[in-house]
Amino acid sequence: MSKYISSRYSSLKTYTPGEQPKDKKYIKLNTNENPYPPSSGVINAVNESQLSSLNLYPDPTCSLLKNVLAEKYGINQENIFCSNGSDEALGFAISCFGEKGVIFPDITYGFYKVFCDYNNYPYDTIPLNEDFTINPEDYCNTGKCIVIANPNAPTGLCLGIERIEQIVKSNPDSVVIIDEAYIDFGGDSALKFVSKYENLLVTRTFSKSYSLAGGRVGFAIGNASLIQDLMTIKYSTNPYNIDRLNLIAATQSIVDQQYYDGCVKKIVSTRERIKKELVRLGFSVLDTQTNFVFAKTDKVYGKDLYLKLKDRGILIRYFPGERTGEFIRITVGTDKDMDKFIGELKRILEETK
Ligand SMILES: *Cc1c(COP(=O)(O)O)cnc(C)c1O
Repeated sequence: MSKYISSRYSSLKTYTPGEQPKDKKYIKLNTNENPYPPSSGVINAVNESQLSSLNLYPDPTCSLLKNVLAEKYGINQENIFCSNGSDEALGFAISCFGEKGVIFPDITYGFYKVFCDYNNYPYDTIPLNEDFTINPEDYCNTGKCIVIANPNAPTGLCLGIERIEQIVKSNPDSVVIIDEAYIDFGGDSALKFVSKYENLLVTRTFSKSYSLAGGRVGFAIGNASLIQDLMTIKYSTNPYNIDRLNLIAATQSIVDQQYYDGCVKKIVSTRERIKKELVRLGFSVLDTQTNFVFAKTDKVYGKDLYLKLKDRGILIRYFPGERTGEFIRITVGTDKDMDKFIGELKRILEETK
C-alpha cells in the first residue's frame, strides 16, 4: 500500500475472486461459470464491423439491451438498470440504499460485506438455520436494507416466493435487494412483485445462465425511482459502464433464449445425476436450485478434498469456517467433466479409507 491512499480505503478487506490459475489446464468447477459457450448468434453478432466501431463510445443508455429485456419480462425500460456484471448493480444498490445499515445472512455471497465496508455502512449478518435455510422472520420489520441471494450461494438453497414477499412487505421504509444470479436454474423469481412494491430491487446476471461471465453484464429491475437512483451513481462514476461488444453479446443472448434454455436444461439434468452420485459416495448434499452443488462427507475436510482434487487437475471451492469447513462447492460442468470429477473423487475416498 502506498502512503498516498485515502485513509477511508487503507484498511479495506477486499473480495477474493475464485482462483483462475494459469499453471496448467484444469477442469474448472470452482467459479460457477457455464461450461457451454455463448450461442452461435452471439459469436456472429460480435463481428468485424462491430470491432471496427470500437473507436466510438458505447450507448450509455443501453437501450437495445433494455428493449429486449423489457419485452422479455413485460416491463418498461424505466424499470431496468444495465450494469457491468451484476456485481456493479449490487454495489451501486448498496451505495444508494444501505446508509442506515444492511442485513444479510452469515453464509452468503462474500461481496455484500465488502460493498458495505467500501461505503463505510454498518451491517449485520444473521445466522442461517442449522439446516442452512433462511428464517424469513429474521428479516421482517428491520427498517434496514436487506440483501438476499435467492437461491443462496454457496448453499444453493432457495427461499419460497411468499417468504420473499413477506420480507419486502414488512420493510416498506427500506430497500430489499434480491440477488437472483442463479434463478434460471431453479426456484421462483421475485420479479412479479416489482410492480407491487416500490422497495424491491431484483438483480440478475448474464454470467451464469447466459455463458457470458467474461463479458461482465448484469441488470437490476425495480421501481423507476430506484432505477433512477442507480443511474445517479452510474453517471457519477462510469457512464459507459458496458462496452460496445458486450452490449451486443448480451442483447443477442436474449434473442437466442432457446439455446440458453437448452443449456440450462442440460446443466440441471447433470446436476441431478451428480447429486445422486455424491449421495451414493456417502456425501450429504443440500437441495441445490443452482448450477453448483454444496456437499460434505465426514471422511475428508473441504480444504483437503480441494487440495487433492487440484493435484489431479480439478478445481473446486471450499469455504473455511466452522459451519462450512466440511463442505465443498462443485460447479456443474459438462457430463464428461463431471464423470472425471466423480472418478477422481472415488479414488481419493478409497485412498483415505
Ligand atoms: C456470480 C454471482 C454474482 C454476480 O456475478 P457477476 O458476474 O458480477 O454478474 C452475484 N451474486 C451471486 C450470489 C453470484 O454467485
